[in-house]
Amino acid sequence: MSIVVQGVSKFYGSQKALDNVSLEVKTGEIVGFIGPNGAGKSTMMKIITGFIPASSGKVSVNGLAVEADNLEVKKQIGYLPENNPLYPEMYVREYLGFVASIYKTGVSVKKQTNDIIELTGLAPEQNKKIGSLSKGYRQRVGLAQALIHNPAVLILDEATTGLDPNQIVEIRNLIKEAGKEKTVMLSTHIMQEVEAICDRVIIIDKGVIVADEEKSKIYSKFKRPKQVIQVEFDKDAMDSSLAEIENVSSVKKIRNNIWVIEAEGDEDIRPSIFNFAVKNNLTVLSLNKQESNLEEVFRHLTNR
Ligand code: ADP
Ligand code: MG
Repeated sequence: MSIVVQGVSKFYGSQKALDNVSLEVKTGEIVGFIGPNGAGKSTMMKIITGFIPASSGKVSVNGLAVEADNLEVKKQIGYLPENNPLYPEMYVREYLGFVASIYKTGVSVKKQTNDIIELTGLAPEQNKKIGSLSKGYRQRVGLAQALIHNPAVLILDEATTGLDPNQIVEIRNLIKEAGKEKTVMLSTHIMQEVEAICDRVIIIDKGVIVADEEKSKIYSKFKRPKQVIQVEFDKDAMDSSLAEIENVSSVKKIRNNIWVIEAEGDEDIRPSIFNFAVKNNLTVLSLNKQESNLEEVFRHLTNR
């Protein structure tokens, strides 16, 4: 087990940001830590990385208690904080060399710097000031400083927030690539991010963990209350006759000959729709059941 959080609470003054949180991240896993703004994600990550203390509870990373072995723990962890604070006046290569020199890993600063510039695709920008880089390249610098000492555990707080769609894809690929041999915990409020890169998802809301599941299992665990089917016929059909199909609760025509049909209950109503078509001399051109997605699960669990 790479990260173990046991019964952690955190108060800021009288405000409770984390309420008795327990979670575990296994070695080699990529876990998505998702929740709405203010849920406590950044607070949890700052506690795991030893940047702020918990009010109560215990955290260990690779078997080391976070409070006691703070410096040792920092060597095990690469951390990209929210909003990626960097020194805008420093040059990329200069900054990464500076970060490398802090960790005494035994590898030369030059080699570490060269390797990380190569890995994160920063070569063309290495002699520029950080402040002059695009947001996508600044984020690469943030990832580079998190990865430079080759830590076993990566903690990434909203690594793709504020990037354009192309930059998002690039940074996700980098995380996937860099995360192959590492344990990764990444926070996000974007569900597609979790769908794209994570093995497991932990959902937090108002300082409380509300779900902790393998990505593939979370869908079946939270079944949508209704079936939603989209069907296209070759000709027009009548609302009223479609509504008479057993279990159908609503019928909506969205375009010419295309309908969205909602039905109650567990029994798949697609065969009934098909039979309806046969009886009414219609041809089914397409018939799709809309699967629930993480977005729905998330909204369901966080009551949004
Ligand atoms: P998230 O990262 O999920 O958006 P945060 O961990 O940043 O959530 O915040 C959780 C809660 O704690 C929020 O209500 C936030 O306002 C509060 N909070 C965070 N940092 C501080 C702080 N330094 N002082 C006071 N309250 C804080
Ligand atoms: Mg945050």
